[in-house]
Amino acid sequence: MKIGLEVHVALPTKSKLFCSCSSISDEPNSAICPICMGFPGSKPMLNGAALSQAINVANALNCKISESTSFVRKVYFYPDLPKSYQITQTQGAIGGNGSVELESKRIGIRRIQLEEDPAKIVREENYTLIDFNRSGVPLVEIVTEPDISSEEELREFVFALKSILYYLGIDIEKELKVDLNISVAKERVEIKNVTGLRNLIDAARYEIKRQQELVAKKQKVESETRSYNEKAMRTESSREKESDEEYGFIYDPDLTSYSTKSASVQKPVYAGKIAREYGKKYGGAAKTILELIQFDKRSLELIDYAKAKWPMQNIINVVEVLKKYGHMDIPDEKFTRLIEIAKSGTPVNEQVLKQVIKGAAVETSNVGSTDIDKEIKAMIKANQKLLKEYDKNPKVFNFIIGEVAKKLKANPKDVSARLSSILEKI
Ligand SMILES: [Zn+2]
Repeated sequence: MKIGLEVHVALPTKSKLFCSCSSISDEPNSAICPICMGFPGSKPMLNGAALSQAINVANALNCKISESTSFVRKVYFYPDLPKSYQITQTQGAIGGNGSVELESKRIGIRRIQLEEDPAKIVREENYTLIDFNRSGVPLVEIVTEPDISSEEELREFVFALKSILYYLGIDIEKELKVDLNISVAKERVEIKNVTGLRNLIDAARYEIKRQQELVAKKQKVESETRSYNEKAMRTESSREKESDEEYGFIYDPDLTSYSTKSASVQKPVYAGKIAREYGKKYGGAAKTILELIQFDKRSLELIDYAKAKWPMQNIINVVEVLKKYGHMDIPDEKFTRLIEIAKSGTPVNEQVLKQVIKGAAVETSNVGSTDIDKEIKAMIKANQKLLKEYDKNPKVFNFIIGEVAKKLKANPKDVSARLSSILEKI
């Protein structure tokens, strides 16, 4: 089985791809101008931020990036396109020949291109509305090779892609539109314009089963374009038959070619790879680490901060609790304190979290306090003189706390509590 995708994702720029209209607006037809409405004489100007973001996507997907990039007009007549052409890319695309590494295989990325979104068509019962706010919003199109070979791999791929884009500040769910190519046998079926991740997985599952059943019955799978009916949760034959050859592509004389050199390239983050590495190096289940960091930068920051110093299992316990109760902005020292509590054998839960956030002392299990007691007693034994001064000089008390806390990497508050109780008994 072969599955390939053409994924369209909106880029989070302030303004549109070729004009200064806002790319976010609620009131229909309020963010429009002669350029995105295609009035005669208007000239498009490329938005540098959109170009940079598209280059970042190409870079994160391991693509070879073209030295310069250029645009073409894809000519067709449709109500969502007042210019009668969409500005897109063909030969001069941003990049290509990339890949996304999954746990078990590599999915090839054929091409990354930048293009403008057409207007939004709202169909009502007796009439149709058009909102041109969306005209000209920058989209990045990610075209994969047909390397995906099961529904499971499709799921793994789209979540890996979603995570990579999340770390670039791009939300894949916003305006996600996918064309899905599936061939169970030889014939290729294209399902056009599937919106949202859930629909994508559902459409693929339905279509795989439909083709498998036809093959099992020794019937022919028609090579055709289908659409996904969300309500009925099935793919349906659609009459549209255009292929790229049926569109007219012409060079856009308003736009020159643009160098990709000046873009500031952001270092990509591959959550799947990190989770597998950390699982191997520091212990802890890769799957659990992935669940924490896949769509959460802060979880990764916390794990990175603590990974070399404490057991991964304890770190995971604490990060999960912080996430669950909404305390991800915890200061480093309190975060550290929680991990030490977990390490001492006391599981961190909501109650422990609350106490630490408040700065209250937490009874940890005996392992921790026994170690502290042993160390304090050793210090007292070695510093009898100091101890005699104790009544006169409170600094001695702090000195012992400081030394023991430093040596055991313990919380000074705990050492202080143990020291008081030991001194009482002397
Ligand atoms: Zn505009």
